[in-house]
Amino acid sequence: MAELPEISKLAGQMGDTLSGKTIQSITLLQEKCANIPPDEFQKRVNGAKIIDIRNKGKWIITSLNNGENILLSLGMGADILFFDDEKREVDKYQIKVTFSDGSGYTARFWWFGKFLLVSDDELESEPNTKDIAIDPFDERFTFDYFSSLLKGRKTQIKAFLMNQKNVSGIGNMYMHDILFKAGLHPQKKISDMDEAEIKQLYVSITGILNLSREKGAFAYESDFFGQKGGFTNDYFLVGYKENQACPVCGETIVSIKTGSTTSFICPACQKI
Ligand SMILES: [Zn+2]
Repeated sequence: MAELPEISKLAGQMGDTLSGKTIQSITLLQEKCANIPPDEFQKRVNGAKIIDIRNKGKWIITSLNNGENILLSLGMGADILFFDDEKREVDKYQIKVTFSDGSGYTARFWWFGKFLLVSDDELESEPNTKDIAIDPFDERFTFDYFSSLLKGRKTQIKAFLMNQKNVSGIGNMYMHDILFKAGLHPQKKISDMDEAEIKQLYVSITGILNLSREKGAFAYESDFFGQKGGFTNDYFLVGYKENQACPVCGETIVSIKTGSTTSFICPACQKI
């Protein structure tokens, strides 16, 4: 599932490739991923030019020069693929966007994704994206900012970090190693964490997400040009390594249930 390194890479590639292009048509084969009927969607974007593409957490926002914005969520995962010529488009997709120069992109959701059209006026209050917090690649995501977020909170640390209203872009995949590197049990209460642990957690979040970004993001997700990233399973420390030895102390890594998610931890390094 795509998390911040994958989404920010995709949004960057989309922005570099598509900015300035004029939308010619939108094909919506899976109508329920959109918030308005296909013909209305088409009418509101037709002939509009892309002026900006950015991510907000795990959402990708495409702003048009006519006051409209396309909000894309990959859901459980999706292939969003560019084509420079319609002859080279993939044949399986739920959404296709074509531009006046003959290029375009397709979206194929593994499960259900979202593809919404929202005007500039509605954007700030859009229910899916309005409360999404800044992500760890944002320059405002400083240690002081992060530490102020945790102040006075009693929640378990994993649940807190998974909530996109607190910190956006982190999902279950990178979480295992983030908590392991910080020496924190997923169910540790924030109010039981000291200053050093908060510092270590901040370093761990930014370190692991940046490492994936440097490696070109997760190796099992395609980017906008169908290329895989370089962050393979070998880079995981405890994530998905059940029954293997902890790279720090040698204890056996276990998987535990933490609410609705599974967590991989070293029971010796990550005490509650
Ligand atoms: Zn260990």
